Amino acid sequence: MHEVSLCQNAIDLVVEYATREGIDHVSCVRLEIGAGAAVEVEAIRFCFPLLAEGTVLAGAELAIDMIPLRARCRSCGTEYEPEDLVAACPKCGAFGPEFLAGREMRVASFDGKPRHPPGPAPEQAAPGQAD
Ligand SMILES: [Zn+2]
Repeated sequence: MHEVSLCQNAIDLVVEYATREGIDHVSCVRLEIGAGAAVEVEAIRFCFPLLAEGTVLAGAELAIDMIPLRARCRSCGTEYEPEDLVAACPKCGAFGPEFLAGREMRVASFDGKPRHPPGPAPEQAAPGQAD
């Protein structure tokens, strides 16, 4: 089940960004999954909360956007949305187009709360971080 490693990669990525941004709780993660990515959405939904446990993503909501396949014919340059990965060009009938979108899963965005939210007069800029 390669969804586990895909899901793990997505979580690692968000953890990395969140850490860099000083976010210690991620509330929502939005994934884009291509129609031609060969990813089981239900499997992603199943493993996400399990893999998120113990990270800043624990308990985060998971939003998934499905991205349709987009392809460009290598023969005539027509752009179209094929039903699947072996669809032929609607104009000239050529197979093997270049895929422009819809073949991958990626993290589109995430929401989180910073450790020290910007507010009125924080007592110290970065407690615990000696210079
Ligand atoms: Zn064509």
